[in-house]
Amino acid sequence: MTEEKGTVVSTRRSNYPVRSVCFSATWWLRFQHINQPLATISQKIAYLGIKEHQPPIPHLSTTKNLQTARLAIADFNDALETDNTIWMGIRKKSIRTHIQQFLYKSMHSTHRIGPQWRHIPNYEDRKFCSTCNIPKSMDHILIYCEATPCNTIWSLAKETWPHAPHLWRDINLGTILGCGCLTFPNQDIEQHHDQNRHRRIPKGATRLLQILISEAAHLIWVIRCERVIQDHTHQESETHTRWFHAINTRLTNDKIIATLIKQDKRAFKLVRDTWEPVLRKTMDLPNDWIFNREVLVGRRLW
Ligand SMILES: [Zn+2]
Repeated sequence: MTEEKGTVVSTRRSNYPVRSVCFSATWWLRFQHINQPLATISQKIAYLGIKEHQPPIPHLSTTKNLQTARLAIADFNDALETDNTIWMGIRKKSIRTHIQQFLYKSMHSTHRIGPQWRHIPNYEDRKFCSTCNIPKSMDHILIYCEATPCNTIWSLAKETWPHAPHLWRDINLGTILGCGCLTFPNQDIEQHHDQNRHRRIPKGATRLLQILISEAAHLIWVIRCERVIQDHTHQESETHTRWFHAINTRLTNDKIIATLIKQDKRAFKLVRDTWEPVLRKTMDLPNDWIFNREVLVGRRLW
């Protein structure tokens, strides 16, 4: 029996019929982990192993979305991210799990929208937005569609943003898909320090930005699905309520994690850095606000 990378290996010592498979040394090491002697590996297992060892070919739409996210992040951060760091950004803790799943599917274009309907008999017209009469796409649904309250929700997100207005950039599909990688360039942070003399801006502001963009995009998607699937029309007041509910759910989760689960100064500081500037816009905060469940965004207590 010979074993060499990229060579044909014969399994003549086995009790099975003589077979020859082509595989690499790395692939062979993977089989050693499951204690499978080389002589007993069937051709089916070997073929599956070879297929598994080969990296998957990225789908064209995934590559396109990754590039869209990369350019948007570069415009924001002044740095080019790799595919790997963009995928890791989607898994940041600042983004809730179900929104991570939404962003993951959006990056792979697996939602059944627009062109995915064109080959389904009797449903071809679903390729187009019934209100705007243009082909549906994720960026149309999340940013431009007149049928969903995109403008209202993005305006609410911008109003919630408590830091300098120039730090809130225009939103596009790349910004949404790559929101986990968004950080502020150094000059903006320094400028913002000078303007507001707030020593805890950068990390909290970055986290807040990721929260606001991810929550707004997902809320628009949820409202869109309710409109299309359940035929529910959302009033302006309901949209406002849903937005503040989503943001306050994040705030409450952060408070619970910091005060009941982690209970350390680092967790307290992260929550304060993220939410204090938002809350100070509408109320005078007591020092122990983090323990008060009634301290919420958009509510006046004192
Ligand atoms: Zn539309």
